[in-house]
Amino acid sequence: MTSLPLAAVVETSATVAATRSRTEKTQAIAELLAKADPDEVPIVTSWLSGALPQGRIGVGWASLRKLSQQRPSSRSWLSVDDVDSTFTVLAALSGPNTTRARGSTVIGLFERSTEAEQVFLRGLLSGEVRQGALAGVVTDAVAVASGMPKELVRRAAMLLGSLPETARLAFVGGAEALERGIVVGRPVEPMLATPAASVDEAWTELGPQVVVDAKYDGARIQVHRSGSEVRVFTRSLREITGAVPEVVRLVADLECESVILDGETLAVTEDGRPRPFQETMSGMQTSRPYFFDCLHLDGVDLIDEPLVARLAALESVASSLRIPSAVVTGADEVRNRFEESVAAGHEGVMVKSTDGLYAAGRRGRTWQKIKPVHTFDLVVLAAEWGSGRRRGWLSNIHLGARDPAGGSPIMVGKTFKGMTDELLTWQTSEFPKHETSRDAHTVYLRPELVVEVAIDGVQRSSRYPGGVALRFARVIRYRPDKTPEQADTIADLTRLRPPLVD
Ligand code: AMP
Repeated sequence: MTSLPLAAVVETSATVAATRSRTEKTQAIAELLAKADPDEVPIVTSWLSGALPQGRIGVGWASLRKLSQQRPSSRSWLSVDDVDSTFTVLAALSGPNTTRARGSTVIGLFERSTEAEQVFLRGLLSGEVRQGALAGVVTDAVAVASGMPKELVRRAAMLLGSLPETARLAFVGGAEALERGIVVGRPVEPMLATPAASVDEAWTELGPQVVVDAKYDGARIQVHRSGSEVRVFTRSLREITGAVPEVVRLVADLECESVILDGETLAVTEDGRPRPFQETMSGMQTSRPYFFDCLHLDGVDLIDEPLVARLAALESVASSLRIPSAVVTGADEVRNRFEESVAAGHEGVMVKSTDGLYAAGRRGRTWQKIKPVHTFDLVVLAAEWGSGRRRGWLSNIHLGARDPAGGSPIMVGKTFKGMTDELLTWQTSEFPKHETSRDAHTVYLRPELVVEVAIDGVQRSSRYPGGVALRFARVIRYRPDKTPEQADTIADLTRLRPPLVD
């Protein structure tokens, strides 16, 4: 079979960008995948979701800027295979003459690309194609093109933590391969939590019996052990095994053959107490993991078992490494635990349904986070140029909540509060990379950046399209670990009304 022309991918990418209809997007990508050779399916899948199969290949901003001056070819020469092989060569370059070799290899590629192909490749190399919002559409397109049920493909993608690998299995292995589920050593998309408005709300929805965990503010980790091999992944499924030797040692010492543990790693004080986030800024740190879930133990997948069964497995294998957790049968007890956790300087609590399954890659309502201030992860839609002391900086940001129906984010407010000079400088250099257009006052952005804001509540609004506006929003931090599909929804915000009584 001949390799798929690059031009076909570029054309599909343009078709997808030009339509708002999810069905048309899915159809266009499915048609493309159907034309691809099975070896090329993972590559195309990866590109269209905005990533390179090779990961980072070291072509930086400066070289990309230079490449924008490269004259395009008037004819289309390149195939998917040509481009992918070139990326593989680039990724493998090392040694003294790397910069020069990389430069000439990339220029060679761009010389043979048409103008539209150059734009696409530049986007791919800079990570700015970031059609991240498209991952869901690409997943469905894999299902359509391979003739597999959408739910099966979605689930496999979450459990394998890789859409390209899922696509490969769908095309070469069929349903049987997709049904195999978790593989120890391959990270699973972590389950996420929904914000609850109050203890009472979480209790009403999840009671009369819930698991209440402390919510520590560290970094999410997923630890896989198979025999003596231990591997550790972040929330975004990046491997960090080498960076956390203490986690590796503790999990290697557990009495089991194979296990997958989900938890948080955080700094501890000299006497071994978990250190609240505010105290972690300075000094030498030791850290340790606190686990709150167990997805696999000794050959048995637990992902479809109720939480209490997973916690029993966790207790049996890693009781000393658990996050403080209890099964609770009254709202007052939930409240007490919440207050204790906050008083100790932690973020709050997680309230979990005792019979909830592990919703890999999704924000399940069976996990609800309760924090003393309401914080929401919203999408940045635009930014206005500052005035006065902030002249020259992109300052006031427009915030959008996710549309649960999959449409564009819905604007719910603006804020310039809580921004340090450092953050303003960062916004001013970062936002233009996500720009779609601008006018005299405002730079409009693709909905790609997620920011965590604290608010006092929400109010009814006739000005904003969702009918709600944020009250006293202030920026806490950007969330590079979250994608726009993981942002909070308009429904999460409207649930805050009427203002909290808790
Ligand atoms: P957030 O990042 O605010 O959406 O809150 C969810 C995150 O809290 C998870 O991704 C974990 O990193 C962290 N976390 C801390 N403690 C727990 C816990 N007991 N259960 C689940 N997640 C927890």
